[in-house]
Amino acid sequence: MSSDDVQTLTSQELYASQAQLIDEAAEALPHQFTSCTYPLGPLRQAVYLCLTCKLNDPDVQPKGICSACSVACHTDHEQLELFPKRDFRCDCPTTQAHRCTLYTALEPSNEGNKYGQNFRGLFCRCGRPYDAKKERETMIQCVGCEDWFHESCLNLRERPASRALSPVKQEDGDASDEEGSLPPPLISGEDYDALVCGSCVLEIPTLKRYAGTTGVMMVVRHSDAEPWKVIGQEEDGSAETNVEIDAKTAEAEGQTGSKRPREEGSADGSNKRLRGSPSAASESKPCLAPTPNPTAQKIYKCTSANGTDEGKKPSPSEPNFGTGDVFLTEGWRARWCKCPSCLPSLESRPYLLEEEDTYEPPEDPDSGLSLEELGMRALSRLPRERALDGIRAFNAMRDGLMDYLRPFAMEGRVVQEADVRAFFEAKKTENGEA
Ligand SMILES: [Zn+2]
Ligand SMILES: [Zn+2]
Ligand SMILES: [Zn+2]
Ligand SMILES: [Zn+2]
Ligand SMILES: [Zn+2]
Ligand SMILES: [Zn+2]
Repeated sequence: MSSDDVQTLTSQELYASQAQLIDEAAEALPHQFTSCTYPLGPLRQAVYLCLTCKLNDPDVQPKGICSACSVACHTDHEQLELFPKRDFRCDCPTTQAHRCTLYTALEPSNEGNKYGQNFRGLFCRCGRPYDAKKERETMIQCVGCEDWFHESCLNLRERPASRALSPVKQEDGDASDEEGSLPPPLISGEDYDALVCGSCVLEIPTLKRYAGTTGVMMVVRHSDAEPWKVIGQEEDGSAETNVEIDAKTAEAEGQTGSKRPREEGSADGSNKRLRGSPSAASESKPCLAPTPNPTAQKIYKCTSANGTDEGKKPSPSEPNFGTGDVFLTEGWRARWCKCPSCLPSLESRPYLLEEEDTYEPPEDPDSGLSLEELGMRALSRLPRERALDGIRAFNAMRDGLMDYLRPFAMEGRVVQEADVRAFFEAKKTENGEA
């Protein structure tokens, strides 16, 4: 930088003045959204549906777009955030109708992408569409299928009665009153780290075996007349007595772990589940998995007998003992038994053993932030709908600033902080203090 008397604009200062803009306008973002993730290939990343481009049209191959494309390519469009989806490659460059502005070559469809019901705008085992204005319930994402579930569909609490009848018009951030009137969920968000939905559990033998044991909580009941209760809490006390005894017995039998107390009423299921484990255990590592919880196993027997592939609830005529969802407490990934019988179904889903990386657009590049990046940074802190409005506002502001700065660039003049400030001051007055 040059002498002290000429105050040039360093990237820090630019950052500071931009940060001020951001605070003033409450519109800026922690990430830059200047490159589509397509060239990075499939990865776990936030995915967006563009409703305006009908990227959820059931008659055509659904498409999802990366966060950069949601901001840069579909700026003015109505969108639905699906949150992270693993092994997903951005479809924006494969979309002919609305061409990608960040990655301009037209690419073939992404054969590797999996498009569940979320890509048709439907969520949960109840298959309902999501409407931010009407939805009163918290929804929870399954770490397996990455679909989203209503708390009521997880039996964590009753479905709020008024939701369907009187969609409450919620002002921005004013949902708290409504939320406050709901009864507390049976398992609160602080009490667990991850949800795996019942249909995912059915596909993961080791998880199914752990279901309902300590740290692998479930919501169950023994008859339709009973209230729902939680099993598998860590400081249990409410865990079922026979399970506790079984677990203690198993513990007392110690390291061999090969002999398990018989469970009532699930001989078939347990045979299948435990296939190979005692003999394998005697040769190498003993199996340290807890004794399966009979209540949990009964639920899986019912649900698999009903042939519920999509994890639907049992038909109304069937008693509903639970949906088979499990709520894993903190530290769950480190707790699995890794014996030869337990390990394979975990290894085939690496996210069960190690927390997976979720792509985030790059942050604060060393070279300093561009105006666009700084504006985007501000925008990301806003709720989605407001952010999209903000993007429009920002684009207008950026164009203005670029016009303003162009003469400096053409004449090779250094932009000074005062110059930028002057622009923002003018803008601020123009917008009536926003
Ligand atoms: Zn993209
Ligand atoms: Zn669009
Ligand atoms: Zn794009
Ligand atoms: Zn639901
Ligand atoms: Zn699932
Ligand atoms: Zn094991």
